[in-house]
Amino acid sequence: TRSIRRRRAFLSKPVASMGTEETYIMVKPDGVHRCLVGEIISRFEKKGFLLKGLKLFQCPKDLAQEHYKDLKEKSFYPSLIDYITSGPVVCMAWEGAGVVASARKLIGATNPLQAEPGTIRGDLAVQTGRNVVHGSDSPENGKREIALWFKEGELCQWVPAQAPWLIE
Ligand code: ADP
Repeated sequence: TRSIRRRRAFLSKPVASMGTEETYIMVKPDGVHRCLVGEIISRFEKKGFLLKGLKLFQCPKDLAQEHYKDLKEKSFYPSLIDYITSGPVVCMAWEGAGVVASARKLIGATNPLQAEPGTIRGDLAVQTGRNVVHGSDSPENGKREIALWFKEGELCQWVPAQAPWLIE
């Protein structure tokens, strides 16, 4: 019975936090049209990050413009806005220690032809203008983008059953 009690204590040990860092990940319209939603979500799930929010969403133009405001002066900006608003996207909020940089590694280089095999873009795309997925480039932008794409009630605070098997 003592060992059972110890095992129970181990499994219910509060996982202080999966890490306070958060990132905004988005399957872009090409990823949705190409039926890559499950595949892309699966890569982050399998890695062991914590899913806090998830929705299929038709992005309005002003939101796309706000999200990509730093790229406003780029020649590809108008076509980027058309692309992101051309069909539904899948919005995700993921949490974990180091999740921003790690998610960027899982996603791969902006140009899919330069992205390493094994990364999402390296495996699933061929052109920068159709690179299937977005990931925040800094913890600050992770917070900013999650606040931009999600309303408060759309995010969940929870501890997954696998937490003690991921984090000691
Ligand atoms: P990342 O998404 O890898 O962080 P950037 O922030 O540089 O890359 O650019 C944002 C998005 O703008 C890219 O993911 C891509 O969809 C688009 N983009 C960037 N550069 C180009 C380009 N040269 N031509 C067309 N689209 C581009």
